Formats: sequence, C-alpha cells, structure tokens
Amino acid sequence: MYALHAKKERLEGMRSGAWLSCVNLLCVIGVCAVSAFMLWQMRLDAGRQAAITSRSLVQLLGRDIARNLEMYDLSLRAVVDGMKLPAVANADPETRQMILFDRAATAKNFGYILVFDSKGNLIISSKSNQPQSLNYADREYFQYHLTHADPGLHISQPILSRLTDRWVLVLSRRISNPDGSFGGVAIGSIYLDYFRQLFEAVRADHAGTVTLYGSGGSIIMREPYDERAIGQTVAGTESYDRVQSTGEGSFNGPAMIGEGSRNFVFAQVGNLPLRLSIAVRPEEIYASWWRKALVLAAVVGTLCITTMVLTHLFRRELVQRKCAQQVTDALNIELQKLATTDALTGLANRRRFDEVLDQEWRSAVRSGHSLSLLVMDADYFKGFNDRYGHQKGDEALQVIARSIEAGIDRSSDVACRIGGEEFAVLLPKTDVAGAKVVGERIRTLVSAWKTPHTGNPHGILTVSGGAAEMSPSKIIAAAALVSAADSALYEAKAQGRNQIQVASRKVTNLHVVSR
Ligand code: GH3
Ligand code: MG
Ligand code: MG
Repeated sequence: MYALHAKKERLEGMRSGAWLSCVNLLCVIGVCAVSAFMLWQMRLDAGRQAAITSRSLVQLLGRDIARNLEMYDLSLRAVVDGMKLPAVANADPETRQMILFDRAATAKNFGYILVFDSKGNLIISSKSNQPQSLNYADREYFQYHLTHADPGLHISQPILSRLTDRWVLVLSRRISNPDGSFGGVAIGSIYLDYFRQLFEAVRADHAGTVTLYGSGGSIIMREPYDERAIGQTVAGTESYDRVQSTGEGSFNGPAMIGEGSRNFVFAQVGNLPLRLSIAVRPEEIYASWWRKALVLAAVVGTLCITTMVLTHLFRRELVQRKCAQQVTDALNIELQKLATTDALTGLANRRRFDEVLDQEWRSAVRSGHSLSLLVMDADYFKGFNDRYGHQKGDEALQVIARSIEAGIDRSSDVACRIGGEEFAVLLPKTDVAGAKVVGERIRTLVSAWKTPHTGNPHGILTVSGGAAEMSPSKIIAAAALVSAADSALYEAKAQGRNQIQVASRKVTNLHVVSR
C-alpha cells in the first residue's frame, strides 16, 4: 500500500518535472528562434548598409572625377576654339600663350596642355613659350584624331608622360582647319595620382577595391594601388561585361582580378567613357556581423545552457522533495496506525475504541439505528499468567484476538483490546441478540483452541462476555452502553464464567438513568 502510494506520488513528481522541462525547452527554442531571426535581420542590414555605402561612394567619386575632367575639357575646348581664329594662330608665341591659357584650369594634378600640328610636332605648351621640339605622331590619341573627324573629347589609355615621366591620362580634342581637314590635336594630361589620392581618401573608411576603367576595359586606377594593374585590361571578364552593360547598378559576381566573388557597385562617370566600381568581398561585408553574431550566440547559448541546467536542478529538487513528502506522508499514516493499534494483538487499541464508539454513537443518533457492544474478558487470567508465565499469557491474548477477528463477519464491526485481558467489539446496526450470537461464536472459537489452563475449572482457556444494545440519542452518553455491557460481563463472571450474558432492557435503562 505504502509502496504503491509512493510510486504514484513519484510518477506525479516526474510528470510535473517533465512539464517543467517541456516549458523550459519551449522557452529555449523561442529565445534561439528570436535570436536567429534578429541575427538574420542584422545580416541583411549589414549587406544593405554596405551596398548603400558603396553606392554613395561611387556617386561621390564619379561626380568629382566628372566635374574635374569636364572642367579640364572646357580649357581644351577654349584652346581648340582659339586655334581656329587666324589672329590667335598667327600671333606671336607670348600673346598666343596668354590668349590660350590665361583662363585654363589649373590644379595640382593637371599636367600640361599641349598643341600639336597636323604632323604631330609640339607647337604650343601651356608651361613654356618655347616648347621642346618633340613629335607625338605615334601616340594613339594623335592617330585617333588623325583618322576620326569627330570633334568630341577623346580619353586615352593610361600612358607614361614623355615630359614628366609620370602616369597620365590624356584628354584630347581634334583641331580642324576651316575646310574641315585635320589641323592638329590639343591635349591635356591628368596625373593618375589625382585618382590615386582620391581613391585612397575614401578607401580609408571603406573596405573594398575601387577601380576606374577606361574605354575598352583598361584599368586607369585601382585602389589598393598596384602599378602592375595600371593599363591592364579586364575586358571579357564576366563581371566587367556586366559593369559596362548598363549605366549603373550592383551585382554579386566573380572577381575581375584575383579569386572569389565580390559584391560590385558600379556607375558610369558622368557622360564620359569611364566607369567606376567598388568591389567588396562578402567576408569583409559580414566581418563585423560575424563578430556580433558570435558574441550574441555565446551570450544566448550561455543563458540557454544556464536555464536548462537550473531547470534540471530545480526539477531534480522537485522530485526529491515530492519523494521526501511521500515518505513523510507514509510515515504519518504509519504513525497514525501505530497510535491506534494495539501492538500485541494488532487489534484497535483503547484510544481507537473511544474514537470509534463516539463516531458510531453519533452516526446511530443521526440514523436512528441501534448500536450493540460486546465486551469480553479472559477467565482466571491472573492464574494463567502465574502458572504459565507472562510470555504464554501474551500468546493466549493473541489467541483470543484471532478468535475475535474470526468471529465477526461484518466490515462495520470493530474489534478492540480495551484493557489487559479485556476486549470489546462494537457492532453497529446490530441488536443485542445478534451481539450475543457473535459473543457465543467468539467464546466457542477460543475454547476450540484448547489452550491448557489448569487454573480454569474447564482445564482450558475460556472467555466470558457481556452484550448490551442501545438506541443512541443526543441526551445519552456512549459511556452508558459500555457500563451496560460491563454489567452483563460481571453477570457472566458471577454465573460461572465461559458464557455470554445479555444486559436486559431494565439494566440498560438503569445505566442511562444512573449516568
Ligand atoms: P476473572 O476470571 O475474574 O477475570 O479473573 P482474572 O484473573 O482474569 O481477572 P484479574 O482482573 O484478577 O486479572 C487480570 C489479569 O490479567 C492480571 C494480569 O496478570 C493479566 N494481564 C493483564 N494484562 C496482561 C497482558 O498484557 N499480558 C499478560 N500476559 N497478562 C495480562
Ligand atoms: Mg479483567
Ligand atoms: Mg479476566
């Protein structure tokens, strides 16, 4: 019984512990899911932010380059227009110098503005009245204007300047004679250092590669700077094809130089045949995100593991407490049982008898049923003890207890040991005749044991009994029933023992009155 109860309690404890674990697991999964969602959003934001930064840098750089080149081109146009005027063309070198270059744009990285005649000979230089005698007919831009009548701006590939020995980009325009024939070329050079400094300034706070492409896919400048890349062509690579396919845009594609993929953001520079791109490695875009993600994952992971461990400990504690509670409850039940049980015979003890008598009395008052009491006492028991010893006496008392248990047949009947060798059987809803039958049955059972007792005239252990019946009411105390049964027992003793006597109505009433 106790083991079954403990098992049930343990099962309940485990069940509530399992619930706790389930709720904890759900919380952990929830926190992980929210964290993963946040991390994913942060990753998307990092990608978006990098694209926005690259796009604004491409626009900023493109505007700066377009503005400078267009400004420089204006000076070239002024020279070309001036050379069309005979007065200028025929003026003395000093005056011509003043007219042509007085308003010319100058800047730190703007080189010389030069004018060549139709044979490619240097005839005018912005830096000198008497230019060196040099021939530029072999230059690509010269050949271009010689063979193309279009008066538009031509931008060369990066070339090494013959005058300064520095990398330059040459802007050139054709000078046409009044009849439209080729009259020469006006050029202006921009040092590539201009682009390099410009790109270096922006790259300081933005990871990635900034590249300016000339017509035909040749690299004009690339930051991080590598001189070997200058003039190198990337035409034909998958990513350059996409860069030159539209005015501006962004995409993820293979690196033009080197391995791996890059996030490209690109745009055309003004209306010039130049394109600018910023290419960033995906790992650079997400480097900061990775750091944050690792920290967040570590914090969330630690928190989750901590709560899981704490929940596990709490659960274990809960189960242990439940077990301890079960043991305490079971002990209490056991104690309660011990407190109401007679240790020698296992029957209910005197305290229990008083409780049951009170309960049954009140129950009978409510129901109106009668209540009978049978008291039984071992005959000549003092003599039995004296002859056979206390140990045998105890065994004889157990024989009587077993006989009483065997003699009662209703579950509502309660057998008690109310004194040394005195027993009582409370018989609810039973009349006195019924009580006498039970008493006789018990007496016979005791005799049937044939426990030797030479001090008893029958030679064996016998018992006497007194039975009484009452119809309980609120004005009578239960003790009256006990007194009546005791009187009947006294009568049985007086009549020679080994018999059951019944308290007559008269005697019972007498007890009620004398109470
Ligand atoms: P009667 O027939 O008139 O009842 O005589 P009796 O000797 O049985 O009655 P008495 O009241 O004089 O003696 C009761 C004896 O019961 C006294 C004691 O030796 C014995 N006794 C009481 N309680 C116990 C017990 O727990 N164990 C044993 N072995 N003997 C007990
Ligand atoms: Mg006695
Ligand atoms: Mg006795």
